[in-house]
Amino acid sequence: MNLERLENILHSEPKFRLKQARQTIFVDLISDWNQATNFPLAWREKLNEDCPLEIKAETLISQPGNSVKALIYLPDGLKIETVLLEHGAGRNTVCLSSQVGCPLGCLFCATGKTGFKRNLTALEIVEQAVYFARLLKKEGRQINNIVFMGMGEPFLNYDNVLGAIKILNDKDGLNIGARHISISTIGVISSLKKLAKEPLQINLALSLHAPADDLRSKLIPANKKYPLDAVMEELNNYLEQTGRRVMIEYLMIDKFNDDKEQALELATLLKKIQPPLFFVNLIAYNPTAGFRPSPAKRIFEFKKILRDQGVDVTERYRFGQDIKAACGQLAGNK
Ligand code: SAH
Ligand code: SF4
Repeated sequence: MNLERLENILHSEPKFRLKQARQTIFVDLISDWNQATNFPLAWREKLNEDCPLEIKAETLISQPGNSVKALIYLPDGLKIETVLLEHGAGRNTVCLSSQVGCPLGCLFCATGKTGFKRNLTALEIVEQAVYFARLLKKEGRQINNIVFMGMGEPFLNYDNVLGAIKILNDKDGLNIGARHISISTIGVISSLKKLAKEPLQINLALSLHAPADDLRSKLIPANKKYPLDAVMEELNNYLEQTGRRVMIEYLMIDKFNDDKEQALELATLLKKIQPPLFFVNLIAYNPTAGFRPSPAKRIFEFKKILRDQGVDVTERYRFGQDIKAACGQLAGNK
């Protein structure tokens, strides 16, 4: 799919034509301009030529059948991955990529190991959601939630991510409520500042993963640039300005960041979050390389300590490990 030229092609036409075109793509979810019967035939041909709607992708379905990974081919030949998570009871979440690769190179993350190629455009981000929206529509279903937890650091591609969110959220777009859209970040401070000022009700998730700088820097090289104190301070500003509850993500890595002292240290660190509008989401590490996941018993104990300290804790359900579609496993190849 390539919509970059759509506005140019329709720029001399009355405004409503662009609106109509957007509706056919994002609401009617057509995959060929010939399905846009309200458009003259000559236009449809030109649009098929210059703004093709076909999405070139390959899909893999996980064994339990509750997650689908798509490998999408971009016009310049690069590839990105996106994942559909089916929670049951009609809840469908799409996990979007924001960059091809990621420049931050976190040690636990397969995307980080691939290096960085480029930022995605807003439309390339939306295309991922359109792909699954089309698939779900065939079964009379739709996307309910969007999470920016795929490849890349969304806060290093802020404008395009926000541009994509506008289309995802728009009534003439995919019409997904802002409260059902979440951005996960390592803590890029300049973007945290900007998000606090956006009039959108989107959710924020912060990838913390360690309770102290030395340990965090071993996992996340960018912690040197965005150390915990600075991130916490900006998080507090964000909470003061938005009053929106934040998710604190914490990977559980065997004998690395998962012992009792570290749980207590984490609880102490989190006391600095004022107002205390947050909950912790524990993520069992999905093996990529180098580390082992914490055993279930340790996760249970870690969770208990946090609860005893008055911290709200949830545990992330693991999807699609068999097709390398789980958090941190997206590397742009099958
Ligand atoms: N760059 C952003 C968003 C993409 S990663 C960020 O890092 O927050 C989305 C989530 O997957 C993050 O919380 C990240 O820490 C987590 N993740 C990365 N590698 C993982 C792995 N191997 N196992 C489990 N979660 C992982
Ligand atoms: Fe980039 Fe997030 Fe992976 Fe770190 S965890 S390398 S920030 S995608």
